[in-house]
Amino acid sequence: MFIDSYQKALACLEEEKIINLTSKLISIPSYHGLEVPEKEISAYFYQYLVGEGFETELIPVAGERKNVISWHGPASNNEKTLMLEGHMDTVDVKNMAVDPFSGKVVNGNIYGRGAVDMKGALAAMAGALSAVKKSGIPLDGRVYLAGVIDEERNYRGADYIAKNGPITRYAIVGEPTELEIHNGHRGLIWIEVKVKGKYAHGGTPEKGINAIEKISAIIEEISTKLKPQIMKKNHPITGPSNLNLGFIKGGTQPSTVAGECVLQMDRRWLPDESQEEAVREIEAIITNLKEKDPELDAEVTVMDDNMGIQFPPLVCEESSPLVNILKEASDEVINRHKTSYFPAWTDGSILSRDGGIETVVLGPGHLSSAHSEEEYCPVEEIINACKIYIYSIIKICGKD
Ligand SMILES: [Zn+2]
Repeated sequence: MFIDSYQKALACLEEEKIINLTSKLISIPSYHGLEVPEKEISAYFYQYLVGEGFETELIPVAGERKNVISWHGPASNNEKTLMLEGHMDTVDVKNMAVDPFSGKVVNGNIYGRGAVDMKGALAAMAGALSAVKKSGIPLDGRVYLAGVIDEERNYRGADYIAKNGPITRYAIVGEPTELEIHNGHRGLIWIEVKVKGKYAHGGTPEKGINAIEKISAIIEEISTKLKPQIMKKNHPITGPSNLNLGFIKGGTQPSTVAGECVLQMDRRWLPDESQEEAVREIEAIITNLKEKDPELDAEVTVMDDNMGIQFPPLVCEESSPLVNILKEASDEVINRHKTSYFPAWTDGSILSRDGGIETVVLGPGHLSSAHSEEEYCPVEEIINACKIYIYSIIKICGKD
């Protein structure tokens, strides 16, 4: 019975239309750097979904920046609701080696900014809803498609959904996992250490305090003591903890004692850790060093914390019905399944933590291609993602 419905929906899947939609979405700039990144793409996506016959809303989230929400099926049974979620914004298009807005298919890959992160997934999601609708299969619960704003910065699109709905039982975020089932990821925080020294002529270093030398002691402690401890921490669903020293800047020129030095790091934290704990670890190192070196003047701050934003981890238990359904779906569509953790951060953690929605990340393409000079997504994976979404919609929202 289920498999009949699934085959019926597959027969209504329009591959070419999905690829054309991907190209079209890529051709519409929605990168950060534009005044209103999602202005044009949200208007286009809204019109497209209305044209496909869906009830659709364009919801203002931040000024002119709007989420697009479509749905299909009755709202009566909340246990049988699913949201397919993807962001419409992309990172900047600077320094791209391919035309960022081409959307051309070459050797089975579709190119341009957003191909893999994540306009291909949005097109696959739209195609899945259309196939289910056109097949006429009756549903018991509602499936939503959410195209959201601002994932690449402050996740205001997902935050809006978590606070204002729609709240579904399950959600699939279509970030690129090569169609693997990624049921968790780590939290993220950026920490900055600023050391103040005292500028002086390089010929009379005793008159100054060298901030570069001071910060090197902090780096030494982080690299040789804290980092090995952090790297030992692991979580079965989100993967290992991590710390990366990513940026350093200090001093003015070779013959001046460096009066200031700044160090920035990225810390990936686990569900049994916290953002505050990650900051305290760095503060503890500095407190210890200050006891040995009263001259040390160092300050620890959380970067980009002006909006009080946190980037929490995502955890969806392996025993979740959603994980099982995605395993079945993957076996059916690509003859294999693999569960793992997503190496980056996603909106899914906000839908899950603040919206209480069981959320898994599964989408077409490689994460390594996201934000890259030659961003692309394999067309075949976009179509297979669409089939996996169709399977999941019928399993979750269909009549049993
Ligand atoms: Zn993304």
